[in-house]
Amino acid sequence: MQVSEPAPTYRVFARKYRPRTFSEVIGQEHIVHALSRAIERQRVGQAYLLIGPRGVGKTTTARIIAKSMNCEQGPTVEPCLQCAMCRDIERGGDIDVIEIDGASNNGVDDVRGIRDAVQTQPIRDRRKIYIIDEVQRLSGQAFDALLKTLEEPPEHAMFLFATTDPHKIPDTIVSRCQMFEFRRLREVDIQAKLVRVCEAEGMQVDAEVLQAISRGCRGGMRDAESMLDQVLATAGEKVTLDDLESVAGLARPERWLTLFEAMAADQPAVILQQVEGFLERGGTERDFVEQAVDALRDLLHVALLGEDALGVEPAPERRTRMIELARQMGRDNLEGVLGMMFHLESRMQKSPLGARALLEWTLLRAARVGHFFDLAQLLGKSQGSDYQAPVAAAAKVAPAAAAPQATQSASAAPVPAKPKAAAVVPVPVAPAPVEPQATPVQAPAATAPAPPSSVVLRDIEALLQRLENERPTLAAVVRRNFVSGALEDNNVVITLYPLEQRDRNLVEDPIELKALARLAWSPGPWRFTFDTGTRVEQDPVVDSLLESFGGQEETP
Ligand SMILES: [Zn+2]
Repeated sequence: MQVSEPAPTYRVFARKYRPRTFSEVIGQEHIVHALSRAIERQRVGQAYLLIGPRGVGKTTTARIIAKSMNCEQGPTVEPCLQCAMCRDIERGGDIDVIEIDGASNNGVDDVRGIRDAVQTQPIRDRRKIYIIDEVQRLSGQAFDALLKTLEEPPEHAMFLFATTDPHKIPDTIVSRCQMFEFRRLREVDIQAKLVRVCEAEGMQVDAEVLQAISRGCRGGMRDAESMLDQVLATAGEKVTLDDLESVAGLARPERWLTLFEAMAADQPAVILQQVEGFLERGGTERDFVEQAVDALRDLLHVALLGEDALGVEPAPERRTRMIELARQMGRDNLEGVLGMMFHLESRMQKSPLGARALLEWTLLRAARVGHFFDLAQLLGKSQGSDYQAPVAAAAKVAPAAAAPQATQSASAAPVPAKPKAAAVVPVPVAPAPVEPQATPVQAPAATAPAPPSSVVLRDIEALLQRLENERPTLAAVVRRNFVSGALEDNNVVITLYPLEQRDRNLVEDPIELKALARLAWSPGPWRFTFDTGTRVEQDPVVDSLLESFGGQEETP
């Protein structure tokens, strides 16, 4: 859930415990390292573009850079934090470090103002530094004006741009910046920080609560800290999961188990109750999907890797339920439901008014995912073909393949029945052999387990799933147009049907491609090639589902 509503104590922790030096920055080691070296070698650029989701430390890092450059003792990797410059920059009130919110100052005049002002020498500091947050919100004209400045910046000037959405920034600007991509923070890192905050505040908070926050904030430290803020401000002596649920809208983990158990057993009444309860407690449909996806992902990990996949230590009773549920639903069902949830997410963006109906419809439909096989056959009959949905076929043939003990020999997983109708191109669900090193089976309970994010994936389907998590728009285009995929040396080569220009721009976007190659789980560069043949019709099951949604599949 997004914590955007300022509670009475909003931002207290986020401010109080904001990193003040590079060494305090969490989870962005790659950036800290590069910047430190640049500062030490006095090779600092004049324009940086800091890319990343909200609340992961972009502005904080920009301020640390400013302190490093302007500190009395500087330029230094370790600003003193004592001098006037350090202190002024830290409180956002330095005369030569100008912070601008692109969202509210997006006019060309504002940027013209910068263009003139940037030419004059700094008043006190070594450098005149412009920190522009949400820079993608500037208008086209403003970018033009900015570009002129960036083409020939005076030596004393420095620009630090922060953005959540680099695609909206003109290439001409981007190409003049050094880019740093901030990662979402790992749950373990966030939790460790929250523990420190609680200790510093002398507060007793259950590990389970901190865990839930660390997960619920979706990699954003600022959200995590303000959630903790809110919970501590309203809860009694001991903070519980119930407090978290009522304050931050994070459903208790058991609720997801109840939901999925009901789905596995196809119990519509229970499913609808869960939706009702969640919305009544103040969450939105979107929150529901986000949290459900997280819970499904856990179950999928258990189905694939066995109970060792439970990096987080759930309460014993919940642990048993999770393992049982993962076994019962199995890999194929879980993947199928996850896929439907992703689809639902993009659907809901298009029609927010129908969000609840879409949500309920999808859950009820997903509850029958185990019956897809029959549904597909039925459809096949009605369309005069004997198509078998590959997902369901695999699920039907060997549900045990998803059970933990069977995953050791993942290469022996059943290959889905081939569609007999030649015209049908299934979505790529064939479980390719999983290489042993790709599975973090040993997850010591006592220490923080390595998150799956650090594992390089070498299986096309696994790569596409990760892509769906982290680059949903791109993933949707790939899924829709997928012909084949392969690993060539360490290159991910994906062949797609010919794309519309808009989609083509997306898959050929150099920034996106660069970013893909750098992802920790990506084996290397990604290349998209195009099939020259004509497009064959889609999976009839998916088509029929889309029809039921009342339209065609849209381009995001
Ligand atoms: Zn200083």
